[in-house]
Amino acid sequence: MRILLTNDDGPFAPGIGAMRKTLADLGAVTVVCPVSERSGAGHSITYMQPVRPHSVRLADGEQVTVLTGTPADCVKFAVLELMDEAPDLVVSGPNIGINAGVDVFYSGTVAAALEAGFYGLRAAAFSCSRRNLEDMEHVALQVRRVLELLLETPEEHARVVNVNVPRLGPESPPIRFTRQSVVFPRGTYTPWEDGHGRVHYWLDSTRRAGPPEDDSDVAALEDGGISVTPLRLDLTAEKALHHLQSAAGPEPEPESIKKR
Ligand code: MN
Repeated sequence: MRILLTNDDGPFAPGIGAMRKTLADLGAVTVVCPVSERSGAGHSITYMQPVRPHSVRLADGEQVTVLTGTPADCVKFAVLELMDEAPDLVVSGPNIGINAGVDVFYSGTVAAALEAGFYGLRAAAFSCSRRNLEDMEHVALQVRRVLELLLETPEEHARVVNVNVPRLGPESPPIRFTRQSVVFPRGTYTPWEDGHGRVHYWLDSTRRAGPPEDDSDVAALEDGGISVTPLRLDLTAEKALHHLQSAAGPEPEPESIKKR
């Protein structure tokens, strides 16, 4: 199995070594990630300027490819240019920090998995609680556990998934299949004055907005479970579309044509 590993935290991301090791048991791993941290990049791509790949040797002697682009660029470039054959599996992360609920839209980690989905590839985004920072080996074990479960599932039911790992204790948390919460934390800005007397604003969007939906990713994480949310690439609001199509009836003739 050919595996593409990427992230939005760059080549020195905590846990990248542990991930490479755990994925190496499943197949041949190619690492392509942004040259520096691109958290919050969402699904942006680089197209008004070129991207440049180069090799970096990490402390453990492993060589990885870094790209002057976003996480979505990394998947695009790996699939279209770098890899001889398309990967069988694309793994993004594990991101340091949870990407559940509407954060899915801002996340570079999730965008990399969605980008792989555009190419029809199987992909999984992994994010974990910051509190696991000292225990990324354990996070990698949980990633492996979830991947093994997903690889047993027919591809059409788990093509692109978003996985979040809560703060880990000594035991493995239960795996929950969830929907993406749409409870929206409005966020706040905290003003901060620099040495020149200029005021800047830091965005804090971590505060919770209200109780999460019962079977949602956010609820599962609050219960201490690992959330696994299958994602789709089509954002169309199906019910609204049906309503609009049936309520609207046939399109009326434009005035300008009637007058002729
Ligand atoms: Mn990140």
